[in-house]
Amino acid sequence: MEHFKIAILGAGVSGISAAIYLQRRGIGPFRLFEKASDVGGTWRDNVYPGVECDIPSHLYSYSFALKPDWSQEFAPGAEIHEYLRDVAKKWELFEQISFNTEVEFGAFTDDRWHLRTKCGREFTADYVISALGGLHVPKIPDIPGLSDFPGKHFHTARWDKDADLADKRIAVIGTGATTVQVAPELAKVARELNVFQRSPIWVGPKRNRRFALEDIDEMRRNPAALRKRRWDLWKGWETIGYDLVVEGSQVNRASQQAAVHHLEAQVRSPELRARLLPGYNYTCKRPTISNTYYPMFELDNVKLVTSGIDRIDGDSIITLDGLSHQVDIIVFATGFKSFNISNEIDFRGEGGVALSDVWRDRILNYKSVLVPQMPNLFMLAGPNSAGLTSAFQMIEAASNYVCDLIQHMDENNHRTVVPRLESVEEFREHIVKSFSKTTQNKGCTSWWTDGGDYPHTSWPGSSISYRAMLQYFEPRALEFG
Ligand code: NAP
Repeated sequence: MEHFKIAILGAGVSGISAAIYLQRRGIGPFRLFEKASDVGGTWRDNVYPGVECDIPSHLYSYSFALKPDWSQEFAPGAEIHEYLRDVAKKWELFEQISFNTEVEFGAFTDDRWHLRTKCGREFTADYVISALGGLHVPKIPDIPGLSDFPGKHFHTARWDKDADLADKRIAVIGTGATTVQVAPELAKVARELNVFQRSPIWVGPKRNRRFALEDIDEMRRNPAALRKRRWDLWKGWETIGYDLVVEGSQVNRASQQAAVHHLEAQVRSPELRARLLPGYNYTCKRPTISNTYYPMFELDNVKLVTSGIDRIDGDSIITLDGLSHQVDIIVFATGFKSFNISNEIDFRGEGGVALSDVWRDRILNYKSVLVPQMPNLFMLAGPNSAGLTSAFQMIEAASNYVCDLIQHMDENNHRTVVPRLESVEEFREHIVKSFSKTTQNKGCTSWWTDGGDYPHTSWPGSSISYRAMLQYFEPRALEFG
């Protein structure tokens, strides 16, 4: 049976990061396993019209692969995907990736992971790095009658490129960050667009700009200026990032006020404004930015539906107020099963225990990288790693931590590592205490807890504190074998 020292599952932002960190530190050999036929993860999958990043590109990129020629402040999805392909090419990763290889099962026995793919290929690895992404598995509500709907229906992360949208009656269900981007694009081509809103979302102004050619030339010629641009963005986002989720902080109040002004400036009808105005704090859910979302509701072909969905009857969505909304296409912008890799792979750890059982009540982890009872399994973009900043920062910090850990194990001839249960419990207490001081999910629900009672997705601090936490690993918190 094939054996690898390190198996990296996924070749998106995290998988590429893990591979390059290992390569730079001379740790290996490793191999990446990717279920699709290309790298890029979320930026390969999300191809809906209008997809863009809502973190500035000079920060939403690897610290070791700065790109001088981003076309605009918030790059379109396709450009980010191309960037990831370029980075993977430059670091010669393509030869180290098994594409179209979806791992579905992994069991830890005899001090190694025994992995199996959907096609029945089996191999073993000393270590598994899960780089599966946090917002990845689409969540589609179970609406009665959906299976009999005669038209096309699909999730935004599984965009049907063959769907003919022109002059159609389109329903978009959900009003999160994705809808804020996709709906204004659909409104341009649809005969009718019905946006089904269960809870309004905060929308702030988007200060996007195209970079002038002279500016791009300067960034190409002057690496110090390029680094300074990233540094300035980092300073700006990091100094406000954490305070933004602190109730009553100056930046929290100012951002909410700016979003209220944005709504007032863009929507004339007081009745419509009232329906679009959230009744919870600005950072209860992850806020969004757009200059085109609100004005869209003033178009004749766009309707905001705020009554809940009861069922689908033939080609009509029936809402709880008894109204019937005839549509040709349904777009589910209903989010993801967040930050739970047991949705994707059946991992069996110590004594054959299933990860889904370990996580039955709470998605417990240590420093967002290690899982109790799952030896030699390391997570990037793991639970409690989502922040209000560039995910690259969290992912790079975790990649470096994993390298430190493997290097320590090599140097000390350790074969296995799991976090001590006391360390996991201490980490959980830290998360619960820190989260309780934030605005997140206070008066609303969002993927920050994904419906459960434990805040398993977000990091309730700044990326600086996340990086500081992962700067060193404390061998005493871990159990080596
Ligand atoms: P989301 O934020 O989880 O929003 C899902 C939406 O669907 C919510 O409005 C939710 O309503 C609604 N919904 C869910 N089930 C429903 C049901 N049964 N009936 C009616 N409505 C239902 O998902 P998302 O918009 O895809 O965004 C997820 C995250 O992905 C973002 O927060 C962001 O981190 C990331 N993202 C980033 C970008 C970017 O620019 N970088 C773009 C898109 C997404 P409730 O609020 O009432 O639950």
